[in-house]
Amino acid sequence: IPATTLAMVLLRRPRSAAAVAASPRVAVVRRPRPHPTPTTDRPPDLAVREPVVAFVALGANLGDAQAALARAMDALDRLPHTRVTARSSLYRSAPVDARGPDFVNAVVRVSTRLPAPTLLDELQQLEQAAGRERPYRHAPRTLDLDLLLYGDASIDSPRLTLPHPRMHERAFVLVPLAEIEPSRVTLQALTAVAGQRIERIG
Ligand code: AMP
Repeated sequence: IPATTLAMVLLRRPRSAAAVAASPRVAVVRRPRPHPTPTTDRPPDLAVREPVVAFVALGANLGDAQAALARAMDALDRLPHTRVTARSSLYRSAPVDARGPDFVNAVVRVSTRLPAPTLLDELQQLEQAAGRERPYRHAPRTLDLDLLLYGDASIDSPRLTLPHPRMHERAFVLVPLAEIEPSRVTLQALTAVAGQRIERIG
């Protein structure tokens, strides 16, 4: 029985230590605090931990996409407990699983103390702040941010899959990722997407 339940089913509060000793049916149970006393106002999922190296893919194909990516990279660098430690070049790519004009893409490496789900929350807030709407699946977008890798984490939860499940199908992810972190992309993976149009634009 959990301690809290045990505390609630006590028959009666003993009047004295002598009464406790005299009664074999009564145990003194210290009622636990319902929650540990917070030491900070920060929500628990923002708890600081050891820095993790993660990779984020950026894409946009509406409005001034290059400016949107530049702003997003700066915003990533301003996230709590997070620093951008490498930025790929910008690339232009044909839409894959999406509609509309060509995309501008890039990948950044970050060092972050945020847990992966919290980092995903932050990425989605940046998408919203950039005016992203989701009128239908694969709609053109002002900003798309995908969490590609978070250390060596392997996660399969309803809202977060790591490594990103489609990263190895996409030249617009693999080519910029290989530029800044060649060790995370195999030649075999690059060869598999070689037919997809992508060009470096700066
Ligand atoms: P999209 O509309 O293509 O940006 O997909 C966003 C959806 O994918 C959201 O519902 C996320 O919760 C989910 N998702 C799962 N894994 C990831 C990931 N590694 N990075 C970004 N979004 C993810």
